[in-house]
Amino acid sequence: MEKVYDIIIIGGGTAGMTAAIYGCRLGKRILIIEKKFFGGQIISTPEIENYPAFPSANGYTFATGLHSQIEALNAEQVSDEVTGLKRVAASSEMADAAQANASSEMIGATHADASGGMANPEQADTADDIKSAKQTNASGFWRIICKKSLYSARTVIIASGTESRKLGLAGEDKLLGHGISHCATCDGALYKNRTVAVVGGGNTALEEALYLSLLCRKVYLIHRRSVFTGDLSLQQRIYNTDNVQLLLNSRIVALNGKDRLQSVELCACGQNSAADTSSGTNGNAKRNDSVNADTANSNISGNKRSETNGHAANNNAKRNDPIRAGVFNSNASGNRPLSENTTSGVSENMDGGSAETLQIDALFVAIGQIPQNQPFAGTVALDPHGYIIAGEDCHTDASGVFAAGDCRTKDLRQLVTAASDGAIAATEAIKYLR
Ligand SMILES: Cc1cc2nc3c(=O)[nH]c(=O)nc-3n(C[C@H](O)[C@H](O)[C@H](O)COP(=O)(O)OP(=O)(O)OC[C@H]3O[C@@H](n4cnc5c(N)ncnc54)[C@H](O)[C@@H]3O)c2cc1C
Repeated sequence: MEKVYDIIIIGGGTAGMTAAIYGCRLGKRILIIEKKFFGGQIISTPEIENYPAFPSANGYTFATGLHSQIEALNAEQVSDEVTGLKRVAASSEMADAAQANASSEMIGATHADASGGMANPEQADTADDIKSAKQTNASGFWRIICKKSLYSARTVIIASGTESRKLGLAGEDKLLGHGISHCATCDGALYKNRTVAVVGGGNTALEEALYLSLLCRKVYLIHRRSVFTGDLSLQQRIYNTDNVQLLLNSRIVALNGKDRLQSVELCACGQNSAADTSSGTNGNAKRNDSVNADTANSNISGNKRSETNGHAANNNAKRNDPIRAGVFNSNASGNRPLSENTTSGVSENMDGGSAETLQIDALFVAIGQIPQNQPFAGTVALDPHGYIIAGEDCHTDASGVFAAGDCRTKDLRQLVTAASDGAIAATEAIKYLR
């Protein structure tokens, strides 16, 4: 006997769990499918300072609080990875049965056969079949194809979020977990009193650097541009943190170390380098609240800090230092060089310029996010960056499929907008079920 849920939610992050809260509270039969761990991206964040009514919260506490809430509402949960969606064209009697059983127990096992013999969960129809079905069979239901099992639902909310972008350098996958990390909260303690680097310039990178500065002897913050895109408040804290040293206009071009990361090769990069243009999906840039890059830039270049007292010299040194000062121009600048951690001119970079080796014990990569929408590419329309095209009502172009949270097209990817999307998507799904 196969259950047909009212709503299946794909992803147990903030958007997905909020959708579950709204769906459960309205008495709908909900299943939430999560491939890794409930909580999503925020679980590894040391500090959340912008969620309304919680001026200072910890990501883990936030995520577990949300999870407790859905457990208390008896939302069904399963640990599995969704690999595709298939629209099942219900016969009229199946549609009637589905309607009659909308919020109750089961509908017949024959539904599985009606799907066209989906014995293999990995089996999927062609994009054309799915596309025509999704436009014409509003009375049908969706088969959710997972690695371990198959599920069915009358509506689907995709809340698959994003994942951390990689540098794309040789050896990166092998060194992940051996000196390369995407999570300072998870791995920072391993590098207590050691020297580490964070690469990135958005909120995530700044937060990671600040967190590591509390544990580590020294934290290099490597960014390919001359200004950060993260919040001004975070930037200010970075400038005021003595053991964080900035390496701006710098790009990592190689990772050194066979079984564990030992050093990275840095080279100067222009604003239009390949690395600069590679972040089209701009998870980080989008995440920068309303304080966007322009605001941040104008404030920095406006020398706001130079008007301040004691910290000004320190801040300026910190800002100038990395603009080739420490790594590439230490003699000319007279500012503090990277000294013990760098070796000059040890290799050539891709542009033929000199690269320098920075000795570090660990590298924390925080260079943006990639939407986790590949399994849905043939089912719903995606934008060129891979985000599901959906407006504030969370409707996709597929009948009965909604998109919520960071996985959809939007200007601001934050907890508050993910939670809002979850509430809206569930409400829209429930309207659709009527
Ligand atoms: C380091 C960091 C710090 C941040 N700090 C803040 C902050 O201070 N304030 C703030 O407002 N926001 C912050 N954000 C952003 C915030 O975390 C996101 O906006 C929010 O988590 C988005 O929620 P979501 O539910 O849309 O996606 P996610 O949290 O990404 O959750 C998506 C879930 O879906 C699961 N999933 C994906 N694909 C599948 C599949 N095929 N099958 C099953 N499950 C799947 C994933 O495993 C994941 O658990 C931060 C993000 C990061 C990375």
